[in-house]
Amino acid sequence: MPDLRMIVQNASNASVAIPAFNVPYLPMIEPVIRAVVDQKSFAMIETARLEWLKFEAGGPGWVAEEFFRWQDPDHVSLHLDHVPVIDEDGQRVDYLADIQLAIDLGYHSVMVDGSRLPLAENITATKQVAELAHKAGIPCEAELGAILGHEAGPLPPYDEMFFSGVGFTDVAEARRFVAESGCDWLSVAVGNIHGAISEGLKDRKKIPARLDLDHLQNLWRATSVPLVLHGGSGIPQEFVKASFSKGIAKINIATEIRQAYESALLSTGKVSTAQDAVYMRTAELIGGYFGLDGIQAVVTREVA
Ligand SMILES: [Zn+2]
Repeated sequence: MPDLRMIVQNASNASVAIPAFNVPYLPMIEPVIRAVVDQKSFAMIETARLEWLKFEAGGPGWVAEEFFRWQDPDHVSLHLDHVPVIDEDGQRVDYLADIQLAIDLGYHSVMVDGSRLPLAENITATKQVAELAHKAGIPCEAELGAILGHEAGPLPPYDEMFFSGVGFTDVAEARRFVAESGCDWLSVAVGNIHGAISEGLKDRKKIPARLDLDHLQNLWRATSVPLVLHGGSGIPQEFVKASFSKGIAKINIATEIRQAYESALLSTGKVSTAQDAVYMRTAELIGGYFGLDGIQAVVTREVA
């Protein structure tokens, strides 16, 4: 089993990041893995609860079955993305059941998202999940701050959001959160946004988000854990690359490859053509855009 804590720490030390690809449609898994291997990279295949409920990923069991069918443990691992405590529609979720199920299915790392809770409750929920994960020998990702985009309806004006810093992860809160919750990786809000998923908005091109790199570095100094960038699609290349030397060691990519799949499927009606489109887009992102081709040897190296 790949040791994800070590792999992500190695990425952090080498100023690179582990790309994590969301797979809202099961046929996306095979071409994503193939692209990762061909690029000599290392990546996570990840699935979020809303992809079972609002897309066609089925559930954590379906994703695991398809992943283990195509996996190459030297190049890919399986991560449970957002299981929210309160979901994008404001509903309470039985998050512990979903997370325990994923652990039992053999996921290599898990995330709990308590970011819609007040700080103390987010700490309590995350601590519970971190303990479950650590008992199984795997790392736990958590989220602090408001990464908007999954909610229904249009976003507030982006520039206003960015320049006011409203919703950004607070540095003092992040320090306390990591120390008290025991999470291994922290997803932060520094200008990044999720791609829209609601009907009528999910096909739109994402707003090119910016990142507050000074704020990011302050969060890294305060927490000393690898940080995670959600909403990795559509961020200009110079910001993304700079973020890898300021704490970001895992970057989530959803919209870019989902839209490649959906538009190819819509125009040709062929799953195989949509898979080709996903392969091309994934390879391009890893190699050309993020510059994360060839990192496999570096991030999987065992350091004594
Ligand atoms: Zn996310």
